[in-house]
Amino acid sequence: MINTDSNKQINMDNLAPDIRVQTFSEVATGYTPQQAKAEAMRCLNCKNAPCVQGCPVAVKIPEFIEAIKNDDNQKAREIIEQTNLLGDICGRVCPQERQCQSKCVRGIKGDSIAIGRLERFAFDVTAPNSTAPDSTADFTTPEPDAKGEHATNPQLNTKKVAIVGSGPAGLSCAATLAQAGIKVDVYEALHDFGGVLLYGIPNFRLPKNIVANFIDNLKSKGVRLYNNVVVGKTIKLSKIYTDYDATFIGAGAGLPRFQGIPGEQLSGVYSANEFLTRINLMHANRFPTFDTPVLIGDNVAIIGGGNVAMDAARCAIRSGAKHVTILYRRTEAEMPARAEEIEHAKEEGIEFKLLVNPLQIIGDDNGFVKSIELLKMQLGEPDSSGRRAPEPIPNSNFSLDVQTVVVAIGQTPNPLIRRQADHEQIPLNFNTKGCIVANEDDFETSIDNVYAGGDIVTGAATIILAMGAGRKAALSMIDKFKTHKQG
Ligand code: FAD
Ligand code: SF4
Ligand code: SF4
Repeated sequence: MINTDSNKQINMDNLAPDIRVQTFSEVATGYTPQQAKAEAMRCLNCKNAPCVQGCPVAVKIPEFIEAIKNDDNQKAREIIEQTNLLGDICGRVCPQERQCQSKCVRGIKGDSIAIGRLERFAFDVTAPNSTAPDSTADFTTPEPDAKGEHATNPQLNTKKVAIVGSGPAGLSCAATLAQAGIKVDVYEALHDFGGVLLYGIPNFRLPKNIVANFIDNLKSKGVRLYNNVVVGKTIKLSKIYTDYDATFIGAGAGLPRFQGIPGEQLSGVYSANEFLTRINLMHANRFPTFDTPVLIGDNVAIIGGGNVAMDAARCAIRSGAKHVTILYRRTEAEMPARAEEIEHAKEEGIEFKLLVNPLQIIGDDNGFVKSIELLKMQLGEPDSSGRRAPEPIPNSNFSLDVQTVVVAIGQTPNPLIRRQADHEQIPLNFNTKGCIVANEDDFETSIDNVYAGGDIVTGAATIILAMGAGRKAALSMIDKFKTHKQG
């Protein structure tokens, strides 16, 4: 039954925890049309729309919700697509509670509007493979260029753009260019396309058919996608940017960080990236049906407190681990993971050991993990991140018996492109964190007509920021192509 308390969000159904831990099927099943309409009716259609200020790409939130109120889901989708091509993905995995929903006036006295759920609904119900009556959409809406004009200039057809990386930054750049009739080639290092959307975020949070549909749609618009091409190894970066009218680098931040503690080289220790890639991309949880194995013991420890740590923990429990423990050095209040992911992980039986810091991973005589030594922590004064800093409690060491350890404490950009730029003496500027430096307004780098965006510029961030960067870079290129033509 749909609740009628206007201060409360309409609940979204989830698969029961005992069922979902046995499958990688999506946990949150989405709103029905009745639920979506009831939630949309809670929106006050505020004139100043503070929710829009909380969205990194300024989705026209009141307008799209109004369309859902009026049963025009196709229009709702088209309104979202004016600034966000990945509404079905962002509706599922954006940190909404810290972005758009945190600014919603409804949240002052009760629950904010469930903006993400409504965004997801508008896309799901109009998806090409949806069984809903108005399921006709793809991203064919003409895109406005940087000046707000529609990019329908036929001369753009002669332009060719190369994109390095097929994550949300690269894909949204490709889609926006293809809409304008520009020829696009995407080069991807892995054997399949989607970046973190494919190999990082598990199917139970983001069904892979959504990413596959987007890629099929790109192909149908004439975008050519090349897999197994590592730019900087298989092809030189300089070859790419001299062969094309413009280049967009969206190579992400795929290099895992480690703590540098003893024992990280033992068998059974994985970076979260490797662990998740083995399971999500190579289907290692179904070894030997698939070729790639993954070593998952009865007891698994995950180091970290972000979305990546939650994903690794929830993948481990679905892949045969009996007991999975999150080890985090602060408290739950400081955890960067989305509240919903923490709640889902707890419901699935993941244990949270807070205020602990790993000191060493201990191996057996054969070099396999057998335990992890931890030190208890307490919270001190706030650090540069604004969060209270963890401080060690002397002599509070203790050990946990574990056979697998997954390290999920962050990623940085892979240094490959930087090394190649150094080697070829390409004047591409990087900052001290190894990120490419790009203009904030047009995303152009220190090389003319070479643009960059997403995690390779910001460091590990969010999908919506990567999507926004790819799209805005494409609009800047279109604008520049037109200006040069006209000039
Ligand atoms: P990526 O998605 O990393 O894509 C980069 C692509 O470039 C990759 O496919 C890579 O193989 C390819 N590539 C790299 N180097 C080369 C090269 N030299 N040549 C060719 N191709 C190359 N964000 C959220 O908003 N919500 C979440 O819930 C969330 N959960 C996450 C969970 C996990 C496990 C991880 C790892 C990240 C998560 N994030 C989340 C962060 C988000 O996924 C990233 O911010 C986003 O994917 C960045 O997009 P991108 O296009 O810049 O890079
Ligand atoms: Fe909110 Fe993300 Fe949608 Fe923006 S893209 S409206 S932040 S869910
Ligand atoms: Fe609707 Fe909340 Fe935005 Fe107001 S602030 S328009 S109630 S979503």
